[in-house]
Order: sequence, then structure tokens, then C-alpha cells
Amino acid sequence: MANVLVFTEVHDGRVKPVTLEILGRLTGQTADVAVFGDLDSTQVAELAKHGAQNVHKLKGAGLDKYSPEGYANALSEFIKAKSYDYVFGGATSMGKDMLPRLATKFDAGLASDVVNFTFDGGVFAGTRPLFAGKCLAKVEVNGPKPHFISVRPNALGMTPNLTAGAGTSADVAVNAGDIRATIKEIIKATSTKVDLTEANIIVTGGRAMKNAENFKILDQLADVIGATVGASRAAVDSGFAPHAMQVGQTGKTVAPSLYIACGVSGAIQHLAGMRTSKVIVAINSDPDAPIFTKADYGIVGDLFQIVPIMTEEFKKLLGK
Ligand SMILES: Cc1cc2nc3c(=O)[nH]c(=O)nc-3n(C[C@H](O)[C@H](O)[C@H](O)COP(=O)(O)OP(=O)(O)OC[C@H]3O[C@@H](n4cnc5c(N)ncnc54)[C@H](O)[C@@H]3O)c2cc1C
Repeated sequence: MANVLVFTEVHDGRVKPVTLEILGRLTGQTADVAVFGDLDSTQVAELAKHGAQNVHKLKGAGLDKYSPEGYANALSEFIKAKSYDYVFGGATSMGKDMLPRLATKFDAGLASDVVNFTFDGGVFAGTRPLFAGKCLAKVEVNGPKPHFISVRPNALGMTPNLTAGAGTSADVAVNAGDIRATIKEIIKATSTKVDLTEANIIVTGGRAMKNAENFKILDQLADVIGATVGASRAAVDSGFAPHAMQVGQTGKTVAPSLYIACGVSGAIQHLAGMRTSKVIVAINSDPDAPIFTKADYGIVGDLFQIVPIMTEEFKKLLGK
């Protein structure tokens, strides 16, 4: 049995869903959670339901806002005082920024962006995409413990049959240490939609959208089905959408349950960011578009006709 710490991020008072995905997969191990700042009792109960034994609320000066140095310093101080075999976190923007920094403090290995894992006799074995998702590598982590693992949001999914943990929570005083680069302000995105990396449904527009105005038809579909709108790099480079919406090798990596690609050709760099989506639907006027080789469902036709029809049909189906 391994002793595991899961680092969780909090957004609008709620723990990020990837934390619950990870905890659900840790049945048979001892799992604790570490969070910076406060967490209300409902969220602690949610973590306990998914298997958390202890919830450590790390508090100290300079830790009210995220800073890679402060968080890594404080977490390493906390982890050094314990005996964890593995430290998990989400492969989110923060996880990608902070976890490698934390792992180097232990001279330890980091298996990053893992999309699946098992524990056999308390030993971790994971799978992670390589070469822009063209192949999957089996990874083990050797060397000094703890070993660090980051998990791609949405890749594991929620575990249906959970084993609850004690969910004991306590404050722990930690030190942010020397912070050489201070984050002065975090400006919230204007969108109220779920971030692309955590979205369960994504509707993406490509170059075929022709302009920013036309993205409205994707917004309308997204509003009905509860999706977040993404864009290909060609759409972003053409000024139709901001870079924050870009999916792909130089944009965001996503793994939603449903990915609807509208007027996207399916270039390898785009696929790199979305090929682990569970169900892919492609709408493209060219029957030979490469996206169809990856799509579970393909619709050959003009997206400007098809998307509004889909929106209307979903409205009827969902009673909206
Ligand atoms: C280093 C590098 C990194 C990159 N990173 C990324 C990345 O992160 N993300 C990314 O997306 N790309 C990335 N690219 C660019 C990538 O190679 C492609 O150029 C880009 O993905 C193409 O975008 P697109 O599919 O929207 O456009 P296109 O390839 O031009 O495809 C448009 C598609 O729309 C279809 N179409 C046209 N009109 C309609 C219509 N009315 N209805 C339905 N379909 C229609 C066409 O048949 C075509 O298949 C990268 C490239 C490089 C070199």
C-alpha cells in the first residue's frame, strides 16, 4: 500500500474535478490531500467521499495568491515532514508550472500528463502520450521518493464505486520562503464557461468559421449543450478567437467526453491537443478531411447549415 498526497487546486471555492478523478483511482492506497488556504466543510466532505483520509490546509504569509516559488517551497517543506511515496496533482496550467519545480527540490522523477494509471502492490505504473499523442508510453518512476505524477484533467473520469476516507481536516503552518517573482494580480477571464481543459463538452471552430462574428453559432450550440467553445490555431491566428481558446500542440490539451470539431481539417498539431477526447464528432465539407480518420461520428456538409440544425434539435431533445 502506497502513501499518497494529492495536491488540489481550488476554483471559486470548489476543488478541481481532476483531484476527485485521481482520488477515485487510489482505492487500496492511503490518500491525503493538500490545499492552500481554506476549504469549506462541503468540499472536505466531497474529498472524503472520494477517499481522502486527511485534508491538510496549508497556510502561511505570501500564500494567498499562487506563485510557483512560494507554493513549491511551502509544499516541499510540508512533504519533507511526512513520508509520502507519491505526490499527485493535475496537469493543469498551475500543475505544469509548479510540479516540475517541486520535483526538482527532491531530485525526484515526475511522470507528467498521465492519462491512466494503476497501482500494483503499492507501485505506480502509468500511461502518458508521446510525440503529440501519436503513441502512448508506459511509465514507471524510479529513484528517490516521493515520486511526482501529474494527471491530465478529464482523462481518468470519475470512479463510480468509491471507498470513503476519514476526511479529517486541519490547518498546517508552512513557509513560502524566498519569492523572487511575485504575482501582483490575477485577472479573471471574462468568460463564465468552464475552462477548456476541464470542459466535459467542447465545440471547436476552425478556419472555416471565416470571422469572429460567426463563432456566435458555436456559442449558441454550446449554450444549449453546456459546452465550452474552442478554436483551431488557424482560427486564432486569423483573429477569430483569442489564444486562450486554442486547442492543440501550442494551445490547450483537452480530454472532454464529447468534442465537436466544426470546419477543422484535423492537422496533427490540432489532434495533439484533443485526440484523447472520448467521442469526437467532425463536421466538414470535405469528405477527405483528415479529421474524419479520428472522428467517431462524421458529418459531411456545410457547418453553417448543420450547426444551427444541431442547436435546434438539441433544444428539442433537452427541452430548452
Ligand atoms: C509548430 C506548429 C504548432 C501548431 N499548433 C497548433 C495548435 O496548437 N492547434 C491547431 O489547431 N493548429 C496548430 N498548428 C497549425 C496546424 O498545422 C493547422 O494549420 C491548423 O490546425 C489548421 O486549422 P484549421 O483546421 O482550422 O484550418 P484548415 O486546415 O484550413 O481547415 C479548414 C477546414 O474547414 C473545412 N471547411 C471549409 N469550409 C467549410 C464549411 N463551410 N463547413 C464545414 N467545413 C468547412 C475545410 O474542408 C477544411 O478541412 C500548428 C502548426 C505548427 C507548425
